[in-house]
Amino acid sequence: VPESSNSLQLYAKDKLSSQMVELFEACQQQSSDLERKEVLRSQLQQEILQFYAVARLYLTGSSMNGLGCRSSDADLCLVITANKRPDPISVLSRLKRAFGSLSYIERIQLIRAKVPILRFRKKGSDLEFDLNINNTVGIRNTFLLRSYAHADVRVRPLILVIKKWARHHQINDASKGTLSSYTLVLMVLHFLQTLKEPVLPSLQRDYPDCFNPFMNIDMVPEGPKHVPPYISRNQSSLGELLLGFLRYYATQFSWDKQVISVREAATFPRTNSHEWKNKFICVEEPFERNNVARAVHEKLKFEIIKAQFAESCRILHARKDLNSILPVRTVI
Ligand code: ATP
Ligand code: MG
Repeated sequence: VPESSNSLQLYAKDKLSSQMVELFEACQQQSSDLERKEVLRSQLQQEILQFYAVARLYLTGSSMNGLGCRSSDADLCLVITANKRPDPISVLSRLKRAFGSLSYIERIQLIRAKVPILRFRKKGSDLEFDLNINNTVGIRNTFLLRSYAHADVRVRPLILVIKKWARHHQINDASKGTLSSYTLVLMVLHFLQTLKEPVLPSLQRDYPDCFNPFMNIDMVPEGPKHVPPYISRNQSSLGELLLGFLRYYATQFSWDKQVISVREAATFPRTNSHEWKNKFICVEEPFERNNVARAVHEKLKFEIIKAQFAESCRILHARKDLNSILPVRTVI
């Protein structure tokens, strides 16, 4: 069989790269995992229609964007247009009462965060759901990320390994002041967009109609169906990209001067606007253009994150073995 640029094997001829492929294959979300989530989504959608006549429940996040692993939670967005601006807390309280009588879910909690959510599990399993109300930017960016995930075969394994690495080193938890998965993914996409030979373009620049921020929300999942794979001249292996990513954030990126913009496939200088002022890390949300990394608000956590990039970069450079920065048996 001839090897084409969409074959992962072409980028996994060395030991480090093949360890990355192996971890990816062991951890990536299976179609049976997605089916389980989809069955519950559809059951809940039916329940919700009894309260809200015009309602649609969307699966979002890593379950849908191609960057999920077997243990990923299921993010849900309920879009309701009942009254003009329904108050999320009162909608979630109502759903909490209604869901309380369903036999197939348990451990329902209302979490009053900036984006309030209802968190619950499928009964007797460790499958967790996070449901928000009308946070539609999450639907738009899910399908943008999904298009990036499929633009080059190296993107999904690289990101999955980096998410596992960050989780292992406890720098992947926005509720504890470190990086959300979403922030981390945008950081990887930015690195791939700004290499001398880019692995990714700006999809929002190249296909503005597919990612129009004002597109009707029902159309968003269909929007990017016709985005073709990106033809990159970059032939780097997966291992080279992983090392390059760590090196970029350990030695090249100016945390205090630059804003990461996946929308522009570039950085831009920080201004004095309140989004960027006095922040440790600035990563622009591709649609809303606010800072997705604002959870990192303590100097100490920021220092821990930077130190982890430096330390892992040094070790991986010397050892060229994935186990040296991510003991594989502990994460599968
Ligand atoms: P994991 O596999 O760790 O669950 P994830 O891709 O689901 O990763 P999360 O950080 O849990 O990532 O976020 C879930 C989804 O919520 C994201 O894919 C994105 O659509 C949306 N999201 C998260 N944070 C933001 C934000 N700051 N602004 C806009 N959308 C966000
Ligand atoms: Mg998630």
